[in-house]
Amino acid sequence: MPEETIFSKIIRQEIPADIVYQDDLVTAFRDINAQAPTHILIIPNKHIPTANDIGEEDEPILGRIFTVAAKIAKEAGIAEDGYRLIMNCNTHGGQEVYHIHLHLLGGRPLGPMLSR
Ligand code: AMP
Repeated sequence: MPEETIFSKIIRQEIPADIVYQDDLVTAFRDINAQAPTHILIIPNKHIPTANDIGEEDEPILGRIFTVAAKIAKEAGIAEDGYRLIMNCNTHGGQEVYHIHLHLLGGRPLGPMLSR
């Protein structure tokens, strides 16, 4: 298992972050470099480096990540207009932090999914 990242320190609240939700399986906090009016990262408390490392035993965690994303979107008032959920994987996916995270982006029209 590769080294833990800065996100493990956020989970343990050893460094500051704007945490909006935390339970036994997941933590959600505002992205430090927001790309939209709402930009929240939902991450597992367990260190899973990339989407390639998700195993069957992690299915409850991944389910929780999505139910928490939907709950946060409703609370943020963006559920009806819509939003985008993204998980980047490895270099071609543009992953920068090797602790899986679901980006929740919304609050404005986000346009086409990929820049051309
Ligand atoms: P990715 O490119 O999918 O790995 O995205 C990593 C995201 O983590 C970027 O959007 C960063 O702005 C965000 N990020 C990195 N460090 C922090 C931090 N300390 N607190 C909040 N967000 C962070």
